[in-house]
Amino acid sequence: MILKPKGTYDVYGEDAKKYRFIESLINDYMSLMNAGFIRTPIFEASELIHRSVGDESDIVSKETYDFLDRKGRSLTLRPEATASVVRSLIENKLYANTADAIKYYYFGTMYRYERPQSGRNREFTQFGLEVFNCNTILSDVEVISCGYDILSALGIECTVYINCLGDSETRERYTTAIKEYLAPHIDELCDDCKARFLKNPLRILDCKVDAGSEIFKNMPVITDYLTDESKSKFEELKNFLIHMDVDFEIDTSIVRGLDYYNDFVYEYKASDGLALGGGGRYDTLVSKLGGPSINACGFALGIERLMMNMNTNIDEDIFDAYILAVSPEEKLQALKLVNMLRLSGFKVSMSLNDASLKSQFKYADKLNSKFLIILNDDDLKLGLINIKDNILKTEEKIDEYDILEYFFENL
Ligand code: AMP
Repeated sequence: MILKPKGTYDVYGEDAKKYRFIESLINDYMSLMNAGFIRTPIFEASELIHRSVGDESDIVSKETYDFLDRKGRSLTLRPEATASVVRSLIENKLYANTADAIKYYYFGTMYRYERPQSGRNREFTQFGLEVFNCNTILSDVEVISCGYDILSALGIECTVYINCLGDSETRERYTTAIKEYLAPHIDELCDDCKARFLKNPLRILDCKVDAGSEIFKNMPVITDYLTDESKSKFEELKNFLIHMDVDFEIDTSIVRGLDYYNDFVYEYKASDGLALGGGGRYDTLVSKLGGPSINACGFALGIERLMMNMNTNIDEDIFDAYILAVSPEEKLQALKLVNMLRLSGFKVSMSLNDASLKSQFKYADKLNSKFLIILNDDDLKLGLINIKDNILKTEEKIDEYDILEYFFENL
């Protein structure tokens, strides 16, 4: 038997119901906020991922699936989709200057070579919202509350942990502080961090290896180095979030890749601390990837983590009708009825096998079907159809031409 690759999973049964429920709730919510759906390739030029996510990041240095195609081009399975959306924005010139922000959302699989464990897979699904041409804090507030509201709508309690990375001056000040602080401890850092110290010191804050160490505990925090302008922006954001009833806390340990984000970064966490998603503002990424200078912010949620935390019961589907037929003539008529009713939007099915009437009744019950349409040759000759209402427990014969009207009236 050939098994699925390590770190991947199949979605079926109850999980499939949750997956589709989440997807459809997100689609509905996105159209309410005027966000357009965007689908980008699952693989991209490696350079795009490496340049945007950052060569020194854990994702690029340890977790990407890189491969050469048959012509020797270096490609990467996307570990996240922001870079792809930004590439598409630039390539397709989707950034016309409008009075309002431009909003795109995606829903799709991502690939990271991580150690698989509960809630951590090598193939996983993210929904993300990216907002461009957004030059006020209102967009950060809308984006943060959008993720929060979607989680609430799914019945998931969460807190948003927020940090402020400030402007470029803030980060320059902070880089100097980090370097001064870490210089005497350089030998105690992991090998990756030693390299980061020279190339990109702020990336050290992302390190998962050194995260719990004493050195990290006493590390300077970025909010102590904010410029006055960044400080007042942060205050403004907090006030807006209070106004919007978003449950949030400040967490200065959240950095999420400091050479990618500026101003605000945040993570949505469940009450047990599990990260459900995260995001931030990334005003320089579009120009860094060759586009015009356009402000941007966005977030992504991990769909599998939402499925793990969802308590909402997905309502058992009520099927509209199951058609029972045994003889070849009955089956032919059933097929026609199934087709006609489905085209009018009703959920209808019939047995495609040679099954006894008894087992068809059993299956209709299992399907939770409201109506049973029981065909028999004698009734059909008279143009009649026998309908049983499985909920009201009534049964009647109607003219075959009245069936659609009957369904519209009774469903
Ligand atoms: P990130 O951009 O890495 O913060 O990812 C955003 C969200 O995607 C996380 O908060 C998780 O919910 C989800 N996620 C990230 N990596 C994985 C993974 N390997 N397996 C499952 N979900 C993940």
